[in-house]
Amino acid sequence: MILALINIKQLVTVSAHGDRVKTGKTMQDLGVIENGAVLIENDSIRWCGRMEELSMSSLKDADVLDCINRIVLPGFVDPHTHLVFSGSRENEFAMRSTGSSYQEIASKGGGILNTVNSVRQTTKKDLKKLARKYLNKVLQHGTTTIEIKSGYGLDVDNEIKILEVITELNDEEMITIISTFLGAHAIPPEFTGNKQEYIRLIVEKMIPYVGKKKLASFCDAFCEKGYFEPNDCRTIISEGMKVGLLPKLHADELTAGGGAELAAELGAVSVDHLEHISDIGIRALATTGVIAVLLPGVSLFLNHKYAPARKMIDQGVVVALATDFNPGSCMSYSMPMMMTLACTQMQMSPEEAIVSSTLNAAAALNLSHSLGSIEIGKKADIIVLDIPNYKFIPYHFGENHVWRVIKNGVILEF
Ligand SMILES: [Zn+2]
Repeated sequence: MILALINIKQLVTVSAHGDRVKTGKTMQDLGVIENGAVLIENDSIRWCGRMEELSMSSLKDADVLDCINRIVLPGFVDPHTHLVFSGSRENEFAMRSTGSSYQEIASKGGGILNTVNSVRQTTKKDLKKLARKYLNKVLQHGTTTIEIKSGYGLDVDNEIKILEVITELNDEEMITIISTFLGAHAIPPEFTGNKQEYIRLIVEKMIPYVGKKKLASFCDAFCEKGYFEPNDCRTIISEGMKVGLLPKLHADELTAGGGAELAAELGAVSVDHLEHISDIGIRALATTGVIAVLLPGVSLFLNHKYAPARKMIDQGVVVALATDFNPGSCMSYSMPMMMTLACTQMQMSPEEAIVSSTLNAAAALNLSHSLGSIEIGKKADIIVLDIPNYKFIPYHFGENHVWRVIKNGVILEF
């Protein structure tokens, strides 16, 4: 089956000419084709180019989607979320808005453990129902691939429950979901003052099971003073690697704790947050190619410092963007919103923000060989936006401009 997208005002291919990522000055080049067309065969891109180069005979048996002067991009990839959760934390948001600190809120039973409590009491069926509702909206906002982490269970049964929800949703829903095991998200209340015992549970019980049942592609850990120290993370991540889980880290979010350096040492696929990354950390990422996944929605939501994206890009670090969608520190799944923040708060250009939300974001999930750009042979995950040019994505913010979503070559109906 052939699907032809025609009369595209701007076809933003984000072509990397075979490279897995774009860095430095190459991020300015989005491979834009004015007045373009795309041919999709089954679930893959067969051809893309200028309208006048499109042979009319190729349209003979094709379904045609006339884009009528709209613009086309690769579907957004969101490489960092905690989308499977129950409950909400709007009361904490309200407390922060009138000046309460994170610590005050945590001492009143707030924070990650608030959500852990709720998730432990929610059945698998209900968790799935909640997640499905969010995933539908995620697709409507143009995200065609998303990563979801566990980490709100913090015991064997509940971590497995979340990972099973994630893997089953990937099988059942149109959106592609990549699963990450984050047992080391926080110390559960029953292990207060006994962190090493909890790490033993992660290493001896959780990781072997996750590996054996193939419930995740990645293993992540929250590397931060008072949570998991670099040594703890090294133990957990190394154990994950033994069963085939690729390394990721949450690092340098609240303090410069050597997390970026550790990610470089471990050969992590990505290291995420980095609001407080050190200069040594930046150099370590630039030389090793570990991808920096930046989460400006968290900085907005918590009124925290933004990651030094400009410095990282100028020094050759591979930068990607993600939402970190979760009930405590970023209640948004809008990638365009993250792009607006990247441009206004982190001195990134609209072009850099788009590369960071497509090709480089796919690379942060080890998927940029098949996703993240519109190139022959790649998967046909494509969005059509009702705006005059691509700069409107970050510029005209707070509105969903997505007109059509094409996932695996199929035009979705909402
Ligand atoms: Zn996170």
